[in-house]
Amino acid sequence: MEFEGKITDGMTGIYPCYWKDADGNEQKLFATQFESHHAREAFPCIDEPEAKAVFELTLITQDNVELLSNTPMQSQERMAYEEWRIKYSKNAPIQDTSFSILQTSFKPTPKMSTYLLAFVTGNLHKKSAKTKSGVDVNVWATTVQPAESLDFALDVATRSIEYFEDYFGVPYPLPKADHVALPDFSSGAMENWGLITYRERVLLDYPGQTSQGIREYIALVVAHETSHQWFGNLVTMRWWDDLWLNESFANMMEYQAVDAMFPDWHVWNQFIASEGLAAFRRDATYGVQSVHVDVHHPDEISTLFDGSIVYAKGGRLLYMLKNYIGEAAFQKGLSEYFKNTPTQILPVMIYGQR
Ligand SMILES: [Zn+2]
Repeated sequence: MEFEGKITDGMTGIYPCYWKDADGNEQKLFATQFESHHAREAFPCIDEPEAKAVFELTLITQDNVELLSNTPMQSQERMAYEEWRIKYSKNAPIQDTSFSILQTSFKPTPKMSTYLLAFVTGNLHKKSAKTKSGVDVNVWATTVQPAESLDFALDVATRSIEYFEDYFGVPYPLPKADHVALPDFSSGAMENWGLITYRERVLLDYPGQTSQGIREYIALVVAHETSHQWFGNLVTMRWWDDLWLNESFANMMEYQAVDAMFPDWHVWNQFIASEGLAAFRRDATYGVQSVHVDVHHPDEISTLFDGSIVYAKGGRLLYMLKNYIGEAAFQKGLSEYFKNTPTQILPVMIYGQR
């Protein structure tokens, strides 16, 4: 099937991010934002969370950029533009050009929803680490960002995987985890499987400049997105009406992980004092949405992401549940649930009943 889509500035589908390098030259990188239903802007698909598939992505780009997707690279082939045109894209314009083309294929993804597919390409640099279990963790930013601004997120990202592997008793499902700071980004961060994207200010820590409050926020967001690699990515809501199960679990787990990593920050106080109060305040409004919301049309999805309800109030419901059944039973239940996830057999794993 042939398909042609447009790259637009709307920060959904495939979109450009604009920035300036150290010499003040205009630079561009390309990124994706497919949640909730924007994969369809990039390729034809059944663009609903229940319709999971294995993706084998090939990108054709200019040859001097970094290329990232959900899985590690499988192969790369460099060729002259004309050779590429004849071989793959006879409809592309004939150009008198010396630039070469890079064709990059990525390893097959796990079976997953379209909204989690992602790629990023551009002039990026990184810092890397490895978890105890051997997962490669990388934090990326445009080359104009100082290398030391990546260190804090790298530490939290690495330790978050270790924490959740230990807590859930289920290994991180991919060989690598990339975290990328994008100059243009519509929300805070996005949990694409193995390629998490962020707004720069919620990933980069400038030593001596970034406040303690922002560092705590960075740690919470990195832990939140890392927990989604299990909640949401490994097990997925069937339809957007149960989005709260993704976000409320991730909301609670971000505090749990950060509290384990930085006990002297006392982040559970914040869970109550800041987000807890926000949830109460919103919940006192007449006609406020419930935690679970019926969704009849894709255009309704973006209205669901109410931080005070779908994240904070739902996170509190789960926290109450955890306290009611006890920490040990809660942990064991989650672990059993992940271990018995038949993602390898069935096309979809559901949370509860639709
Ligand atoms: Zn989330």
